Amino acid sequence: MNVVLFGPPGAGKGTQAALLHEHLGLAHFSTGEEFRRHIASESALGQRIRSIVESGELVPDDIVLEVVERALDDPMYARGVVFDGFPRTLEQARSLDHMLSTRGRSIGIVLTIEVPEDELVRRMLQRGRSDDTEQVIRERLRVYEQRTAPVLDYYAQQGKLRRIAGDAPIEDVHRAIVLAIESLTTKEKLSNHS
Ligand code: ADP
Repeated sequence: MNVVLFGPPGAGKGTQAALLHEHLGLAHFSTGEEFRRHIASESALGQRIRSIVESGELVPDDIVLEVVERALDDPMYARGVVFDGFPRTLEQARSLDHMLSTRGRSIGIVLTIEVPEDELVRRMLQRGRSDDTEQVIRERLRVYEQRTAPVLDYYAQQGKLRRIAGDAPIEDVHRAIVLAIESLTTKEKLSNHS
């Protein structure tokens, strides 16, 4: 089972992915965390992307896709992944489908966590990560609307998109997500029997 957690910055994707890992045993893959690790360790990749991440822009697709492809072949992610913060562009979404299909895998469900913008800003300012200054937050939201939100249509057309109300207690959001995933696996079992 491969799941995409979708939504604007500050929607709670990382929090919910960690809960899915804990309760359903799904591996959690966050491109943002992967990039922050590279930046902290000052790897060649980290040095290349630091200023991009710190300004709230998107890391170029070819770099993102290389990191994801490497992860797909890691045994840790072989039995199902929650993608958090990826895909963020149409090109990334199309490439992900291609990379999965050549491995006999696919995306099962895309959950978009919906939260009003003023609440997003409030949460990110509270979080206080180094790329969580007001100016960078505003830029990340702009980039989300412009480059990432169109990916929703791509998954809606595939019939994979489910909306989750994210302006609610963490546990309630988690329960809604688990229900959505469980209804999908039940449907799969039913269709395998017919
Ligand atoms: P948030 O969801 O709060 O924006 P993330 O940890 O997902 O935080 O991402 C932090 C930053 O890492 C982004 O602003 C962007 O610069 C970079 N990044 C993460 N994932 C991607 C991606 N799939 N494509 C391009 N850039 C990315």
